[in-house]
Amino acid sequence: MKLQEHHARRLLAAQGLPIPPSRLAITADEVAEAAVSLMAEGAERVVIKAQVLVGGRGKAGGVRLAASAEEARAAGAAILGMSIKGITVRRVLVAPAARIVRELYLSAVIDRAARRILVMASAEGGVEIEEVARSRPDAILRAHAHPHLGLFDFQARRLALDLDLPNEQQRPFALIAKGLVATMLTDDCDLVEVNPLGLVEVPTADGARLELQCLDAKMTIDDSALARHPDLEALRDLDEEDPTDRAAREEGISYVRLDGTIGCIVNGAGLAMTTMDLIKRAGGEPANFLDIGGGARADRVEAALRLILADPGVEAVLVNIFGGITRGDEVAHGLIAARGAQARDVPMVVRIVGTNSDEAHRLLSDARFITAESLDEAAERAVAAARQPFGRAAALAGMRPRAPEASA
Ligand code: GDP
Ligand code: MN
Repeated sequence: MKLQEHHARRLLAAQGLPIPPSRLAITADEVAEAAVSLMAEGAERVVIKAQVLVGGRGKAGGVRLAASAEEARAAGAAILGMSIKGITVRRVLVAPAARIVRELYLSAVIDRAARRILVMASAEGGVEIEEVARSRPDAILRAHAHPHLGLFDFQARRLALDLDLPNEQQRPFALIAKGLVATMLTDDCDLVEVNPLGLVEVPTADGARLELQCLDAKMTIDDSALARHPDLEALRDLDEEDPTDRAAREEGISYVRLDGTIGCIVNGAGLAMTTMDLIKRAGGEPANFLDIGGGARADRVEAALRLILADPGVEAVLVNIFGGITRGDEVAHGLIAARGAQARDVPMVVRIVGTNSDEAHRLLSDARFITAESLDEAAERAVAAARQPFGRAAALAGMRPRAPEASA
């Protein structure tokens, strides 16, 4: 689950990271008021930032500087209501604008292969970091945190040296890097990213001094850990969640949309993975990962079919239910009813194993389902069905091509 910047800032501040103060505003007048109060506290200028769960706000015009209340109001009016990658901006953050000397990049992610938290840093932070990572991967420095002991001082200092930070900034940098690792553990994050980590000039009585400040904050929480963070779950932004993802979550279905043409309904995550593998081996591409959970409750089967058919790229559906104690004939009746309740129809291949599976297959064949005895056979039939004119007819009826999805 992604967090909005203002929430991420608060969580990072709670770990002691240097986060400038900020206000949240939902109207241009509130932006002006926030600017007035921040300037009264000493800010020379303010920065106004769109609060949306997508990256690249700066490039999209969602981050603006203002030197007066009037400029702030105008910037607020311009940003509020604008659309960034298809998302309408409803809130902005107003913060004192930093005098940036250098923009660094710092993040922590879970490196599954290494089974450790990986800290990444770059001297070339800012809005071009993706391009830097692509064209010059060695410009990204890396250090793995020890699972029990965290990031060692020597590792953090090594990063600071390689970033070419002034001596006085090495200790503060180490504390920030360790703070990211602490945040990862405390809040069960998949990712914490500060870009830019600004080396900023702070005015003093006799000139200015340098300081490191986190000027942006991006955090995603491990969905599987949300159960133990009700306070974080409460921060979920329902307005920005993909409607399909939201429907799936509310039905208790694990659903991940993919680019293929064969929708899959499976009970059990491992079986769902296997089903996807077999579809690929048979020459097809799965349109989703989907686990309806234990058993095969009729309401979940119906919800799953609805989710899958809402994807216009789907040209066939493969249902693979491992019944066990669940009665196959009940699952079959559920599937028939679920299919009948849909506005759209595609070829559906079913393989059910378990109690009364023969009866289930008979019922399903009578209802125009394609049945299969083995999973290999089911995958092959689904792949063949997806290539039938049936699928192309749906395509000609205007269901495809799919709209490109906004990337995060
Ligand atoms: P993002 O584009 O969504 O990552 O939004 P950021 O918050 O990272 O802002 C994008 C860019 O705006 C930064 O890389 C900076 O160049 C600039 N920016 C952000 N905050 C400030 C600030 O306080 N002062 C100045 N001068 N520039 C800022
Ligand atoms: Mn940023």
